[in-house]
Amino acid sequence: MKFTPEKYSLPDIPMRPFIDVKEIEDFLAGPKPDRQEVVEIIAKSLNKQRLSLQDAAALIKADDPESVAIIKQAAKELKQAVYGNRIVLFAPLYVGNYCMNNCAYCGFRAENKEAVRITLSREQLIHEVEALEDEGQKRLILVFGEHKRYSADFIADTARTVYSVKKGHGEIRRVNINAAPLDIEGFRKVKEAGIGTYQIFQETYHPEMYKFYHLAGPKRDYNYRLTALDRAQEAGLDDVGIGALFGLYDWRFEALALLRHTNHLEACYNVGPHTISFPRMQAASNMVFNKKYEMSDADYARMVAILRLAVPYTGLICTARENAEVRREVMQYGVSQIDGGAKLELGAYSEDTEAPQNLNREQFHVSDSRSLHHVIDSLLDEGYLPSFCTACYRKGRTGEHFMEFSVPGFIKRFCTPNAIFTLAEYLEDYASETQKQKGYKLIENQLQELDGQLAEQIRSTLQRIKQGERDLYQ
Ligand code: SAM
Ligand code: SF4
Repeated sequence: MKFTPEKYSLPDIPMRPFIDVKEIEDFLAGPKPDRQEVVEIIAKSLNKQRLSLQDAAALIKADDPESVAIIKQAAKELKQAVYGNRIVLFAPLYVGNYCMNNCAYCGFRAENKEAVRITLSREQLIHEVEALEDEGQKRLILVFGEHKRYSADFIADTARTVYSVKKGHGEIRRVNINAAPLDIEGFRKVKEAGIGTYQIFQETYHPEMYKFYHLAGPKRDYNYRLTALDRAQEAGLDDVGIGALFGLYDWRFEALALLRHTNHLEACYNVGPHTISFPRMQAASNMVFNKKYEMSDADYARMVAILRLAVPYTGLICTARENAEVRREVMQYGVSQIDGGAKLELGAYSEDTEAPQNLNREQFHVSDSRSLHHVIDSLLDEGYLPSFCTACYRKGRTGEHFMEFSVPGFIKRFCTPNAIFTLAEYLEDYASETQKQKGYKLIENQLQELDGQLAEQIRSTLQRIKQGERDLYQ
């Protein structure tokens, strides 16, 4: 599905800022679309055509209950067609919370003197990873404050250490990063360490609002952050994640700006972001929260549906900042990845987790504090196929999201079997007897839906997993 550049946008030139506030405001200011227009835009999306910014703005403006209902229904259908019932699971691992910045909303900001500052030692890091492996985690995102200590070399070394930790059948197969923007050389270094996605959230794409929230430190430079993932691409790191922090400014503006960022990456590098994140602001240590731009649950679900329709092949992430109920809701409309068993206090996976939550060691509160076991149980109950799959990037299938969407039968041939294999590994190594039965029942149901030959092939691989072989994928 080829992206056609917008008629009005700033030209997409690598390493150059691409957000034009007026353009986005103009799209949002026009009249609301009529029902026919909404139906036509949705048909375009279901027909596998990419939506323009103008189309997405029209869906944002279509806020009457009937339009919202048809948008959500279409997003559900599209999600089912593109992703099936898979949900990819990961966990965040906070490595260090020293920070030179003063982001008004974050518990780690330099000015928050109550924050207890920690950088995990190599030994602590290993303990954390072992504890995560003992839970059954296979995919992590390492999170860092922005500080001289957390150089590209440090981030790369940390990733290498994480990959090297093996306990029993446990191993981490994909290490993603959420850290400060790097220069091209820095991105090259972290790529060499074999990382998966490098995530950087713009927080707010509105330049003036950005200055308002980012009072001091290197992060105050809006354009350096905006073009960070261009530098990643220049460094050959083409697996990148974008995001905005909802609650800082008008969600409609941020949603369109995320799509504008997507278009920019596609226009310049022929590959869009691997994932889009849309965290909503949570309470943090010593934070005064201005509720002016607070986003309701209803708008949040509606936005997920619109993003799904606009960029069908991009992974959408919803973290444990949201409670279990909200996560359940947005998984229907488009979210394809969630974290499970997330703990944000530094060192909390391996330390005494019975200790009361300590806001001064975490960046903000999580709302969904269920264990990985519990999250997987709920997913199975709701008919989702929990997946720890890491096959594509390890097989060098880059641009896999394009493949999922455009190569006929790709999901059936690759994604579903790989999700089943990783779930089976989890069931064999980490699940309770009851959960194991529940999981294999779901796998059996999946197999019934596949054609005989493929199902047989999967069954024979499952047999090998039951006999102790691991890390089998296609
Ligand atoms: N320090 C790096 C940075 O700022 O890009 C990376 C780590 S930062 C801890 C990760 C993300 O957490 C930020 O990009 C921001 O969107 C999010 N965040 C910060 N404070 C938050 C809060 N109070 N509630 C929800 N998310 C928050
Ligand atoms: Fe530091 Fe990131 Fe928090 Fe800002 S969001 S204060 S850069 S850790």
